[in-house]
Amino acid sequence: MTCPICERDADTRFRPFCSKRCADIDLGKWLDGTYAVPSRDPEDIEAAIEAVEQASVKPH
Ligand SMILES: [Zn+2]
Repeated sequence: MTCPICERDADTRFRPFCSKRCADIDLGKWLDGTYAVPSRDPEDIEAAIEAVEQASVKPH
């Protein structure tokens, strides 16, 4: 099984994701409703990762 976010090998602790980071990104996508428009653009994935990291640094 591969991570649906970055397509690396999944980690059994976070499956189907490879890491908590990707699990958080997936959760964020659901919350934002961005799954309505799935994107395979790597830049979008990078942006999603940055958004999660910034959200975790600056909780509101
Ligand atoms: Zn991943």
